[in-house]
Amino acid sequence: MSRASTQLREEILYWCLESVRTGLNFNTQGNISVRLPEHEAIVITPSGVRYDVLTPDEMVVIGYDGVVVEGDLFPSTETDVHLAHYRARPDVNAIVHTESPYVNVFGAVGKTIDPVLLNMVLYAKGPVPIMPFEFSTNAEFGARSAATMGADVNAVVWGNHGLLSVGADLAGAFKVAVAVEANAQVLAGAMAIGTPNILRLADIVIPDGARLP
Ligand SMILES: [Zn+2]
Repeated sequence: MSRASTQLREEILYWCLESVRTGLNFNTQGNISVRLPEHEAIVITPSGVRYDVLTPDEMVVIGYDGVVVEGDLFPSTETDVHLAHYRARPDVNAIVHTESPYVNVFGAVGKTIDPVLLNMVLYAKGPVPIMPFEFSTNAEFGARSAATMGADVNAVVWGNHGLLSVGADLAGAFKVAVAVEANAQVLAGAMAIGTPNILRLADIVIPDGARLP
């Protein structure tokens, strides 16, 4: 019996395919993981496999200590980075890494992505910081990435590379990735024609019982 259920493996594969369908990833870019707290482990996508040929049984289960406990393929090259984020944020149960174009426009110039759309401020929770470029496959990078994200924001841009977004569950982490890319697209256009109105979560009054988008 696997530590990661078939349903969870299929859910991860669904969001991998969705990341390509929504233009957040191309080819084998990006990776997704989910925490398995009862096993002190995570389940993560394998390295270098195209999502359209990936199967649920090919996901890799890895202990919090970084040791593979299930799976025949190499885990994502950014596994140590995911583990560092899980260590830093007990509230995080899922991580989505994407390499979407407008996020990378901001990452390329080292400019923080300020919220200009409601979904961005609701899901990312604030301006998304940029981490200067460095190679992304070790635990030290992960610790710096987690420190740059901090405790209150749900995403961090890796300069000249992509975005890491987190959530209490996988659908939530994916919503952050979508919201940050859409926001980056609008913000780039808004900056080109005027001065954007920057939203702050603390300034937004959410009516009691309001259904969020
Ligand atoms: Zn990447």
